[in-house]
Amino acid sequence: MKLLEDRIRRDGKIKGGDVLKVDSFLNHQMDIRLFGEIGAEFKRRFADVPVSKILTIEASGIGIACIVAQYFDVPVVFAKKNKTKNIAGDAYTTQVESFTHGKTYDIMVSREFLGKGDQVLLIDDFLANGKALEGLARLVRESGAQLAGAGVVIEKGFQPGGDNLRRQGIRLESLAIVDYMDEKTGTIVFRGENP
Ligand code: 5GP
Repeated sequence: MKLLEDRIRRDGKIKGGDVLKVDSFLNHQMDIRLFGEIGAEFKRRFADVPVSKILTIEASGIGIACIVAQYFDVPVVFAKKNKTKNIAGDAYTTQVESFTHGKTYDIMVSREFLGKGDQVLLIDDFLANGKALEGLARLVRESGAQLAGAGVVIEKGFQPGGDNLRRQGIRLESLAIVDYMDEKTGTIVFRGENP
């Protein structure tokens, strides 16, 4: 998605080799007009797939998922990073290893909001090692719902998440795939471009 790639190149900041900061427009301050374009693009790419629910993970996936959901006209459910035990038994839970924080945490979705008959599209801001999306896919599987696919705004193609998910047969659409980035020169190469 050219508009998104141009924006990443203009406003993205490369940190420490493998982290791309896009918090001026994607996951801290949020450019809602851009989110609208992102929603329309996901709708176009998943036009042939029935979707009854969008599932994301707190916190940075929520804003994007809400705008995307307007284009699909379906509810959004977000997996909570669980700290309390009060809903144990009433929820699907799994563990996820965090890319940005380097630790493992539990995520959960109430049984009330996901189940047989749902066709679920996963949405997230970033795909790095794929642990967040794999965790969400496990919750969908546990609930008996169908996984329609996964849409991510930015995939870091030099990390293994995207390939792993595709190998598992998950239909993945990434709106921008960063194949190379260099902190020193500020160079970013997107898939389909010549380095
Ligand atoms: P994964 O589970 O695919 O390794 O990591 C996905 C999660 O880590 C995303 O939801 C995102 O919040 C965070 N993340 C991974 N890589 C980056 C990055 O380069 N920049 C930012 N801002 N977040 C990232």
